[in-house]
Amino acid sequence: MSHILPTYARFPLTLVKGEGTRVWDDTGKSYLDFCSGIAVCALGHSPKVMVDAISKQAATLIHCCNLYHIPQQEELATLIVEDHVRIPGKVFFSNSGAESNDGLIKTARRHGHAHPQADGSPRYEILSFNQSFHGRTLAGISATGQDKVKEGFDPLPTGFRHLPFNDLDALTKAFAPETVAIILEPIQGEGGVNVATPEFLRGVAALCKKHNLLLLMDEVQVGFGRCGDPMAWREIAPEIEPDGISWAKGMGGGFPIGSFWLSDRIAPLMGPGSHGTTYGGSPLACAASLAVLKEIADKNLIENVRAQETYIRETITSWNHPLVTEVRGKGLLLGIGLAVEKMDIPEGKLPSIHLSSELLKAGLLAPPAGPATLRLLPPLNVTTEEIDQALEIVRRTLDQLRGTGVRIQGSERQ
Ligand code: PLP
Repeated sequence: MSHILPTYARFPLTLVKGEGTRVWDDTGKSYLDFCSGIAVCALGHSPKVMVDAISKQAATLIHCCNLYHIPQQEELATLIVEDHVRIPGKVFFSNSGAESNDGLIKTARRHGHAHPQADGSPRYEILSFNQSFHGRTLAGISATGQDKVKEGFDPLPTGFRHLPFNDLDALTKAFAPETVAIILEPIQGEGGVNVATPEFLRGVAALCKKHNLLLLMDEVQVGFGRCGDPMAWREIAPEIEPDGISWAKGMGGGFPIGSFWLSDRIAPLMGPGSHGTTYGGSPLACAASLAVLKEIADKNLIENVRAQETYIRETITSWNHPLVTEVRGKGLLLGIGLAVEKMDIPEGKLPSIHLSSELLKAGLLAPPAGPATLRLLPPLNVTTEEIDQALEIVRRTLDQLRGTGVRIQGSERQ
């Protein structure tokens, strides 16, 4: 009997080893990993640069609390601000995506106190979007635009409102005197791989500028090269300038680290005593992240991401498969839209989860994103040969699922 709290309905798989894009289970069977720990293992499994950096740092200094200076934090923050964000600002290091978003949300509240409504009461409301996902803390689920993560957890922190994604009209009408910030994923990952349109992002940025709202980018899943440019929003509307950005996942390549960046304009809102963490930005976590970000730059993996995106799209399009409606996303966060009405799915199963289970049996890990989308999240250094093998498994498995089809029955998981 397991003593693990059953918050996850797990796939029947126990992984014990990984190398590059391959993982092995406890029976010795190997799989191609196009899940990458849900967009985490940017360099694949156990890459030498990470193993070396972690081993070296672990033998020198594993932990140092934030009461003292940590040179690895300085180096990583400089790299993030000067090479990646390229807008003057400051970085706070956390341990996860949800924590990073909590930091942005706290900053927005401070901004609302510093720039109150006409009657002097603080602005507090953060606008978010349907199908968004911002993490599992109480503030994270409040910000998230999906009811399923909130069930039974009320009373939740108030001050969040959710609007249709990519609908500038609705946003412009919804804006209220108490609104203080807008948080969004430039490409929604968990919500089904939905890409913000350039017009929408530009419109959001203009609205924020006009009304002194903070523009908060959740780049937890999409940041640091997963979608091409290290800043995913630049792939869509390069000219816009957010006020805050959150990251986690890929920036640590599998070592837990997250962070948020604030522009110099608002960074003074978060002075001494305003926020903290015991573990965030430890020498070990920063050393791991530095190794990942340097490798992405040194090996020019952004170019690989762009080339492989094109290759994947062309290959899938060339199938003309009746079960594929479209390929959405950017870089190596791609979603295959499924024609669920044409699929043979067992009663009570969600089509995307059933497909993921069948792919697993055939030797490929690829996670669902919502009920009707399969996500492909290979490491940023994935090869064309690995993509050929993985897509062949996807094509064969889709062939097997062609049938009379069963419509989506309730919600099984996610
Ligand atoms: N934000 C986005 C866009 C995410 O995709 C996720 C996780 O999937 C989170 C936040 C939460 O990150 P974490 O699980 O590290 O708390």
